[in-house]
Amino acid sequence: MSEFESQWQRTYVEQAGSGLPVFADVDVVVVGGGAAGVAAAETLGRKGRSVLLIERYGFCGGGAVAGLSGTICGMFLSTENEKAAPEQVIFGWAEKFRAALESRNGVSGPQRYGKTFTVTHDPLVWREVADGFLCEAGVQILYHSQVVGVLMEGDAFGGVIVNSKSGLAQVRAKRIIDASGDGDVIHRAGFKTTKGNNGAIQNPTMIFRMGGIDVDRFSEYWGEDTISPQKVIDQLIAADPEGARLPRKKIWIFPTTRPGELMVNATRILGFDGRDLDVTNPVDHSEGELVARLQVREYADFLRRHIPGCEEGYVNDTGVEIGIRQTRTVTGIATLTNDDVLGRAKSADAIARSPWPIELHAGTKPKVEWLFDDTYEIPYGTLVPVKGENIIVAGRCLSAEHEALASARVTAQCFGYGHAAALAADLSIKENIAIRDIQGADIRTLLNQEGARL
Ligand SMILES: Cc1cc2nc3c(=O)[nH]c(=O)nc-3n(C[C@H](O)[C@H](O)[C@H](O)COP(=O)(O)OP(=O)(O)OC[C@H]3O[C@@H](n4cnc5c(N)ncnc54)[C@H](O)[C@@H]3O)c2cc1C
Repeated sequence: MSEFESQWQRTYVEQAGSGLPVFADVDVVVVGGGAAGVAAAETLGRKGRSVLLIERYGFCGGGAVAGLSGTICGMFLSTENEKAAPEQVIFGWAEKFRAALESRNGVSGPQRYGKTFTVTHDPLVWREVADGFLCEAGVQILYHSQVVGVLMEGDAFGGVIVNSKSGLAQVRAKRIIDASGDGDVIHRAGFKTTKGNNGAIQNPTMIFRMGGIDVDRFSEYWGEDTISPQKVIDQLIAADPEGARLPRKKIWIFPTTRPGELMVNATRILGFDGRDLDVTNPVDHSEGELVARLQVREYADFLRRHIPGCEEGYVNDTGVEIGIRQTRTVTGIATLTNDDVLGRAKSADAIARSPWPIELHAGTKPKVEWLFDDTYEIPYGTLVPVKGENIIVAGRCLSAEHEALASARVTAQCFGYGHAAALAADLSIKENIAIRDIQGADIRTLLNQEGARL
């Protein structure tokens, strides 16, 4: 244990039957309202389960909204044919949410991202669509509340401990879905998680939006690909060869659904001393926010000075927090390996698939490794922790090797993991079987009955 870690109590476990006041006793508690948590809670509510979704912010969306990640990646095939039209291959829950955004003018059409396509969403509309989905499905939402502990009987989870401005309370549940992105529930129980490549995780990014843009002039200069053309990379290098102010040279910019606005994914957040940050450490997390606010101004200034159409641009929004790509990864009964992704592995047990490249954010130029004209599949066991009963994870904390996660973490797939985890929790209650004893093939069948087209 590092000196830093020894300053904090990492686990908070009460025995089931704890004396804490009982706030709720439900079929399923979903911890976290990001893409995975919203999909999970809505699915369970629609099936008539009593569901409580606990979210520490006052809105859903997680990395996609608080982190302003801004696009739904992972829906379209990659291809070397530059003239090919976008080919959507992911449907199911992701498509249901995308269509609901579209019905409110909250998402763009396909935009070119290198050798594939993505769609840019409006984060305000994202929140409203999520609220609507959850309320219609009868999900009880507890915003402004954070899960800080767990109720255990041996290795079996009986619920969670939640902290709010009112104090501490227990929530009892038959099943728990850890959609916290950080594996918080597993971690609080003291069960095994890992972090990245021997502790090295991908860099956070503070995404920001710029208003006052002449988008036509910008697009004429930048081109149709949202990834920076070589001439802009060269300009970034010329403007700051040492990388002290503009540490990332390959950046993404997306015209949004609002007139005169761009969403800018450019910053690379390190500590003031240039070290990689671990944002599960609140000291690093705080420093990251400070560095990020300064760096946003530097990139905005660069765009105003060097990129046509941006001369009158101003920063009109940043993420509520730095966007966090990676923290803890659970250790599952199956693990998605780097070779699975590169080899486009398929599995009868799979509950999701992905065409998204390995998009690894480390170093000055993020590494992008394309998977042309194919997808790989993600096995059910990646959501099932090796230790712990009555629990399943959903979202970016699934069991995956470092580079595999750099592909499998994007939003369309997180929607899919949430959908799958909910169907597993539902089946587990209905059939009175352990989550780990469920066959992925059975969940895949259920997903396909709900439009997943796996
Ligand atoms: C900078 C950046 C850019 C990205 N760009 C893209 C992109 O362009 N397209 C794309 O598809 N994906 C992108 N991603 C990835 C994508 O946004 C995330 O991987 C995805 O949103 C993860 O969803 P999730 O539900 O697993 O977790 P999260 O989005 O992290 O959601 C977890 C939720 O749980 C809540 N929570 C956490 N702990 C607790 C707790 N203890 N109690 C209560 N609530 C808790 C959090 O507040 C959050 O709302 C990007 C990510 C980042 C960081």
